[in-house]
Amino acid sequence: MGRAFVYVIIGGGVAGGYAAHEFVKRGVSQGELCIISEETVAPYERPALSKGYLLPEDPARLPSFHCCVGSNEERLAPKWYKENGIELILGTRVKSADVRRKTLLTATGETISYKYLIIATGARALKLEEFGVNALDATNVCYLRDLADADRLVDVIQSSSGGNAVVIGGGYIGMECAASLVINKLNVTMVFPEAQCMARLFTPKIANYYEEFYQSKGIKFIKGTVLTSFDFNSDGKVTAVNLRDGTKLPADLVVIGIGIRPNTSLFEGQLTMEKGGIKVNGKMQSSNASVYAVGDVAAFPVRIVSDTRRLEHVDSARKSARHAVSAIVDPTNTGEFDYLPFFYSRVFTLSWQFYGDNSGEAVHFGEFDKTTFGAYWVNNGVLVGSFLEGGTKEQYEAMALVSRVKPRVEDLGELERLGLEFALSV
Ligand code: FAD
Ligand code: NDP
Repeated sequence: MGRAFVYVIIGGGVAGGYAAHEFVKRGVSQGELCIISEETVAPYERPALSKGYLLPEDPARLPSFHCCVGSNEERLAPKWYKENGIELILGTRVKSADVRRKTLLTATGETISYKYLIIATGARALKLEEFGVNALDATNVCYLRDLADADRLVDVIQSSSGGNAVVIGGGYIGMECAASLVINKLNVTMVFPEAQCMARLFTPKIANYYEEFYQSKGIKFIKGTVLTSFDFNSDGKVTAVNLRDGTKLPADLVVIGIGIRPNTSLFEGQLTMEKGGIKVNGKMQSSNASVYAVGDVAAFPVRIVSDTRRLEHVDSARKSARHAVSAIVDPTNTGEFDYLPFFYSRVFTLSWQFYGDNSGEAVHFGEFDKTTFGAYWVNNGVLVGSFLEGGTKEQYEAMALVSRVKPRVEDLGELERLGLEFALSV
């Protein structure tokens, strides 16, 4: 027994929500579209979980951040799906897929068939156990990927008031959670293996600015080492974190942000994979013509960098989802996805945006002790990427444009001197 739909989306996260919105904008009929999601709530803007959701005062809670408020569009509450005849199957995991037969089997035993499938399964947080460290399911060791994780983190924050928090990982989760924990009046220490935070994106000079800002808020950094084990009390709660360099840090709360793995397992052996994700073409179409992949799980051609990339950011999830829907319902008028990589973060009073590619030589500009500064990346005489902290809307738009236009740059000294003016004049 089962149901049949024209379009099925697996995954009710950011990409799932934006894909549904695009289907409705393009006139999907009642009963044609189904979304199956393991989460128990309608698609929401995941970035809220490490920011507004963790605030001690007036925190963000659903339904305020359902998709698509993150891009200033309408908020798709559960009622919207109903009104538009979209079957929203929540709290249900797809446990197997057969792309040859075009069927999915859910954990509840239902077989769902499709004409077109959009895979929007996102990613899962990497676990410490995968690095040989056992947290023994301690309730005060927290990951952050979904709403259930965020609720657990909020509970532990509230029961650790004034205590010690250790944040493992110097990437996005580490940086945003450390800021939120300090705002919640915890004593925070960040631990990561690299010499600086955000090592894959920030230059040492940019990283130094944020680290000094964090230190001014009381956050401590222990770099170049990793967690090796925990101490537990008789209730099974972690009481301390032991590092490879011999340091023991007392801990009431531990947040782990050590990267993710895309949720591809349903399709291993059935679809072509690349860069840990599902390889798709410029229409977001996989190696099976009826199957599309979007968001964190998709490895797609990024024309502007002449490379296949799998991006783990919300803007890419939103736009790739819209593009896939366009390619499905209007193939003749849909060209190749031409995406400009865009990453951002907001912590404390800080806010930065990055566009393009951070390859080649970095040219910094602005005053790093003030509120607005940035960098360009120049590769083989071409400006390929840009970063700006504390910009205005107009300045960010200029940074996006200059990274899209990719002008030639003959004189790096002149670029440094012109700084923001260079982007504003393009
Ligand atoms: P997701 O949003 O993760 O959605 C995947 C969905 O698929 C989930 O609902 C999951 O339960 C479901 N699913 C998976 N497997 C199955 C299955 N077998 N059956 C049914 N359902 C399944 N990016 C930014 O650019 N800026 C930010 O500020 C930012 N902040 C973030 C903060 C946090 C805490 C996190 C975790 C991520 C953040 N990101 C941010 C990244 C951004 O949220 C992701 O890139 C984006 O959510 C990816 O969208 P997605 O739809 O591909 O995956
Ligand atoms: P990231 O990949 O950003 O960072 C992981 C960090 O953990 C890196 O510094 C990594 O180092 C380090 N690390 C890896 N292994 C270990 C280890 N064993 N012990 C200690 N540190 C380790 O992943 P996050 O977990 O921070 O973020 C998860 C996802 O959420 C990402 O997809 C991210 O894009 C997304 N996100 C995005 C946000 C944004 O865009 N503003 C905000 C929050 C989350 P190394 O680089 O050497 O591997």
